Amino acid sequence: SKFKTGLAKTRNSFTSKINDLVARYRTVDEDFFEELEEVLISADVGVNAVMEMIDELQMEVKRRNIKDTRQVKEVISEKLVELYYGDEDQGEVEELKMNPDGLTIYLFVGVNGVGKTTTIGKLAHQLKADGKKVTLAAGDTFRAGAIDQLDVWGQRAGVNVVKHSEGSDPAAVIYDGIQSAKSKKADVLICDTAGRLQNKVNLMNELAKVKRVIEREVPGAPHEVLLVLDATTGQNAMSQAKTFAESTDVSGIVLTKLDGTAKGGIVLAIRNELDIPVKLVGLGEKVSDLETFDPHAFVYGLFA
Ligand code: GDP
Repeated sequence: SKFKTGLAKTRNSFTSKINDLVARYRTVDEDFFEELEEVLISADVGVNAVMEMIDELQMEVKRRNIKDTRQVKEVISEKLVELYYGDEDQGEVEELKMNPDGLTIYLFVGVNGVGKTTTIGKLAHQLKADGKKVTLAAGDTFRAGAIDQLDVWGQRAGVNVVKHSEGSDPAAVIYDGIQSAKSKKADVLICDTAGRLQNKVNLMNELAKVKRVIEREVPGAPHEVLLVLDATTGQNAMSQAKTFAESTDVSGIVLTKLDGTAKGGIVLAIRNELDIPVKLVGLGEKVSDLETFDPHAFVYGLFA
């Protein structure tokens, strides 16, 4: 599956370390768990989450009376899936919400360079392939080139792109995007925004204004506010997530460039620390390299 190839870097590093541990220890003891803790932390699973997980793992191993390290691998997978879900329903794969009657609106937020435009392009492409009519609104009027870049993706996907000139009011672009999507009877409107973290007050005000327009024009929208984060930036991505979560109601995370890191454990840490589900993951630069995140497939893919 996509998870297998896209996660090759994480899998190779993680699996070989765990296999090495299992081979060296044979029977479980304190040192085994301590080394396991280091492996998980080095994969960016997150220090607090790992410590909690190791405690639970030790209890479970004791409860099941497991002595052989080879049998611990299975329990590690179970505990990693639990680590992701926390108190939520364990089996659930969280798909993007759709408006059952009318226009669905997705609002994308995130700083420059994380892969926001690429993700919007991939999603537009996939939705269109599913038979949906899609419109894009080029709300990142701040970054030079952002509008053209979105336009290129839109043309490639064969979807309608609504744009104004650079420096214009993002809320006005989004407003026009909504009117255009309505008149064309589009199923989905995907809105880009500028990610200016340097000035948190501006960011908050801009996002608030854009959201107000969306909420007013389409009751119940936006159906998702998706924060795009670059998995290769590790703790930096985590701190961006905290800032955005304070600035607006983020309903889901898109974690890009998981293919480019050996520290894919961050995908588990984000949910655990922020309590925001990871809805999509980027596993490469091609249009098809965007997947709904399935924690079970992810974790079991690591050991496959
Ligand atoms: P934006 O500034 O957030 O809109 O970022 P872009 O969409 O322009 O992406 C920045 C770079 O990251 C581009 O070179 C993309 O091809 C690349 N990129 C985006 N998503 C992924 C991904 O999932 N995997 C890899 N390997 N590269 C990605």
